[in-house]
Amino acid sequence: MTDRDVVERVAVLFERAVVRLRKRKPHHKLPYATTIKGAPAVRVMYAVRPFLGKSRQRQIDRAIASWKPRRVGRIPIEPSDLLTAQGESREACDRAWLAGLLEGEGSFIGSRGFRSSYPVIKVEMCEQEIIERVAELLGTRVWVAAPGTEGWRPTYIAQLAGHRAAGWMGELRPFMGIRRTAAIDAALSAYHPIRLIAPPLVCVVQGCERPHRSRGLCNTHYMSWSRDRAKGRPPRITPLR
Ligand SMILES: [Zn+2]
Repeated sequence: MTDRDVVERVAVLFERAVVRLRKRKPHHKLPYATTIKGAPAVRVMYAVRPFLGKSRQRQIDRAIASWKPRRVGRIPIEPSDLLTAQGESREACDRAWLAGLLEGEGSFIGSRGFRSSYPVIKVEMCEQEIIERVAELLGTRVWVAAPGTEGWRPTYIAQLAGHRAAGWMGELRPFMGIRRTAAIDAALSAYHPIRLIAPPLVCVVQGCERPHRSRGLCNTHYMSWSRDRAKGRPPRITPLR
């Protein structure tokens, strides 16, 4: 990754060094890497496997199946090495999984309406199974975006806005690296939840002056949002809640 602090944190957990890689293009940021191999890598794979999606589990199974340890007489590594055996609750593991995924793939946005600003958490990926799990954990639904280019895969979006997004940002913030912590702080600093509890007088969509109907939106924008939602399209309008 190009986030040095995130790679450094992984390196501490791996007990390995951080290596600075070469930029592929002059205008790119410097990428950093940390690597763990052999038996210690297999231990980590076993530990995280139960919390990962199916495609990563298959990847792990292939990696372990192809592993031919050089040293004979080594202590075999069994799935009993699982971290869950150390008393971490499923809920804590789910939250850590969500934090890790959002550290890599999530956006923490302070969405600016005409008169108010509200926080949005968004994650968009091609892996339906992963996005479904994100949506379930966040308590939201999945939107499907048709591919922009023919023959490409559709992308899946989980998105949460407003009061509950602010709550999640506060909960996830301690897990995040420097860049996403700053994004969360920016999103939350512009957010004044009193405006959500007391609904706005007019629609929050930029430039719209029509009276408020529901979820921070006027009738026209509410209907547009509602239609997108009913058809399973990614909404063009982000409501307050
Ligand atoms: Zn409107």
